[in-house]
Amino acid sequence: MADLDAFRAETRAWLEANCPPEMRQPVRDEDDVYWGGRNATFKNDAQKAWFEACRDKGFTVPAWPKEYGGAGLSPAEAKVLREEMARIGARPPLSSFGIWMLGPALLQFGTEGQKKHFLNQIARGEIRWCQGYSEPGSGSDLVSLQTFGEDKGDHWVVNGSKIWTSYADKADWIFCLVRTDKTNKYQGITFMLYDMASPGVSTKPILLISGNSPFCETFFDDVKVPKSYGEDIPGYVGEINRGWDVAKYLLGHEREMISGADSSERGAGIGASLTRQAGGELDPILRAELAMFDVDALAFSAMGEKFLDEVKVGKAHPAYSNMMKYAGTELNKRRHELVMSAGGSTALEWDSEETRGGAAPRAWLRTKANSIEGGTSEVMLGVVAKRILELPGA
Ligand SMILES: Cc1cc2nc3c(=O)[nH]c(=O)nc-3n(C[C@H](O)[C@H](O)[C@H](O)COP(=O)(O)OP(=O)(O)OC[C@H]3O[C@@H](n4cnc5c(N)ncnc54)[C@H](O)[C@@H]3O)c2cc1C
Repeated sequence: MADLDAFRAETRAWLEANCPPEMRQPVRDEDDVYWGGRNATFKNDAQKAWFEACRDKGFTVPAWPKEYGGAGLSPAEAKVLREEMARIGARPPLSSFGIWMLGPALLQFGTEGQKKHFLNQIARGEIRWCQGYSEPGSGSDLVSLQTFGEDKGDHWVVNGSKIWTSYADKADWIFCLVRTDKTNKYQGITFMLYDMASPGVSTKPILLISGNSPFCETFFDDVKVPKSYGEDIPGYVGEINRGWDVAKYLLGHEREMISGADSSERGAGIGASLTRQAGGELDPILRAELAMFDVDALAFSAMGEKFLDEVKVGKAHPAYSNMMKYAGTELNKRRHELVMSAGGSTALEWDSEETRGGAAPRAWLRTKANSIEGGTSEVMLGVVAKRILELPGA
């Protein structure tokens, strides 16, 4: 405990000295988030300074080992850092699918060479990754995917297409599920890693209801994917044809991330703050809904703490991330519904300066996708029924 108290004091002082005031403001726009990558630019000097300080300290991936670019923090220390960052409202220095998804999969299934090579690039924000899982016709039923890699000895030739690939047009590399054996559904998929600049890769952005275009259709026409990028750096994770194991493991991390379980709270307090802002003008039914939201958001935070503690000691049920994903995303949708209800007709404004270009309705529309991305709410409930509740017939 004394060690942890000392670590807290040291971390607090470090944050005080290194986190610029501008980086202690809530994220308002997409470019307030730094994603890294070959073509990345910083919005301002404060964003650059904050990222570089965290990168040099290993705080972009605090719990990863030092040799892979992390700070080697214990789970308890990482929690202290999270709490201290939340206390001052510090923004994450780097957001990346490499950190949330590929990194954990490499830590579990990667070779030593892959870990040294790819994890360090991720930690330093050098390479931005995208996720090539879903295909037209293979979303919830992911294992039916058809993108095919023909074995050519030292490489595959990949043909097919993916859909809903978030930021495919901005990513440098892709982690991609490719069928390499048509005769075996589950044991015929390989988890490949390749450069989006490879000849034959192309992307076409898809426009969302919010007016943004954060994802793409992605096409592969005779893309040459090497089986090796150097000594002990295979171009695939795990074993050839056993990529489904890696894919499922990664999905657990993706669902945990989308759930918001590791954020200190899922918007608890917003009900009270909206009620205060309205100065007693709100409809009593809406006030009751806002109060109920705050209670549920606090309960979700408590559940998130318990879940993460169980993960730390290796005791979490493997299907819990599905439960957290369902609860966290449905809660987030509810939160934005309430913001819209409390905002009245002004909340529907789409373009004005006063509403920062319709930030509230755009964010509200974006949350509609929360219960689809990373696995739909219906599918999450199916998993909870079958694997956690063990309901008969599920
Ligand atoms: C914002 C966003 C970002 C995304 N980013 C990526 C990405 O980067 N990479 C990537 O690969 N994919 C990405 N996806 C795709 C996402 O993973 C899929 O949309 C999701 O898995 C659902 O698949 P689907 O769209 O094909 O819907 P379908 O599987 O066709 O489902 C249609 C409907 O049927 C229901 N349904 C299907 N099966 C069942 C079942 N067994 N039980 C009950 N109901 C069922 C679903 O709940 C849904 O309502 C993204 C999606 C969104 C919305």
